[in-house]
Amino acid sequence: MTRWWETDETHDPALTSWVASAQGHGDFPIQNLPLGLFAPPGQEARIGVAIGDMILDLAACAHAGLLDEALVAPACATTVNALLALPSHQRRALRHRLSISLSTSHHRAQVEPHLHVAADCTLHVPARIGDYTDFYVGIHHANNVGRQFRPDNPLLPNYKYVPIGYHGRASSIRASGVPLRRPSGQRKAPQADAPTYGPTERLDYELELGVWVGPGNALGHPIPIAQAADHVAGFCLLNDWSARDFQAWEYQPLGPFLAKNFQSTISPWIVTAEAMAPFRLPQPARPDDDPAPLPYLHDADDQQHGALALTLEACLLTTKMRDAGEAPTRLSVGPATSMYWTIHQMIAHHTSNGCDLNPGDLLGTGTLSAPTRDGFGSMMELSVGGTAPITLPNGETRAFIADGDEIILRATASAPGRVAIGLGECRAMVMAS
Ligand code: CA
Repeated sequence: MTRWWETDETHDPALTSWVASAQGHGDFPIQNLPLGLFAPPGQEARIGVAIGDMILDLAACAHAGLLDEALVAPACATTVNALLALPSHQRRALRHRLSISLSTSHHRAQVEPHLHVAADCTLHVPARIGDYTDFYVGIHHANNVGRQFRPDNPLLPNYKYVPIGYHGRASSIRASGVPLRRPSGQRKAPQADAPTYGPTERLDYELELGVWVGPGNALGHPIPIAQAADHVAGFCLLNDWSARDFQAWEYQPLGPFLAKNFQSTISPWIVTAEAMAPFRLPQPARPDDDPAPLPYLHDADDQQHGALALTLEACLLTTKMRDAGEAPTRLSVGPATSMYWTIHQMIAHHTSNGCDLNPGDLLGTGTLSAPTRDGFGSMMELSVGGTAPITLPNGETRAFIADGDEIILRATASAPGRVAIGLGECRAMVMAS
């Protein structure tokens, strides 16, 4: 049986597709095959697979008899939840079928009628997200933010024992491209006697990796870390929009609430765990002085393969830049190896008390910042809490995000001798309140 980090013929770098735009595509060559929910112009949403600049209608393929019987019902559903619920061997079987259909020219006549031009289609949040949990595993982000409050002791004592997280809000998650309205809320300046209600003055983004939960567990039955991989269906980008002024005022004693739940943006394609098999890395060793993870959070295979060879990037496009026809400017670029805890440790910990995860639940890693400034994943870090605004190439400055600004997240997985794949774009523009 293929293990979660092992590759097969679907990852072969020599594999090409008869869909011409797949060759050399930055995100969606045939080695990727992500799942999503798309609507062709004037039509209902249905499940699709991104290939180059096209989308393959999976439901139409099922109706045409091109999928195994067991996959027909999940492929024809109105969300991807039933596909995510499949055991990993069935997800793998679907991937093999798609890979063969899109690479072998004698399938072309049957499959090609079910392709749509991606640029003409609308992409939706792919799953009915039952629950969304946001973690805090980006250690450089935790250090940077903690240092602003506690210069001498940025990490709280639990950080190296517990994958810190909180329950977020699933209802306000939107797909890339949906603008967000600047939220209003309570904010109180440090010297003010009382808070006022109004639009946030410290709107921020957070560059995160999203994790789509697969089959999940029954209530009361923790997922052992050695089995956690079976429950990771795939990955996306996540922008956890944050209102820092609301956050500073409301977060004690129970943590994030209205500072976080007004909207979150995800990239709409689910890049499957199977597609990421070639892009696995050992989890970086902990410093010698750090405690070892408790036994329920330790697994040798996870330590050997649990990190991801992903490069994450955040870009900004301001109104002035857009009007001048300029390209977005990069705010940061850095590796996803800045996670102190692996995704499997997040899953094992989340379920360790018996809490049930369900297919289509979404987990966020927390902001993934690199150790150095060129890889900081939020404005709060780049502008040092707003005290040191950054200057953009056109001379504009930003301490936080302005109306009309668009934040664009991207991520590419790469490894020597492999065809790189991407997660697709996660972008959203801020509208005035
Ligand atoms: Ca977050």
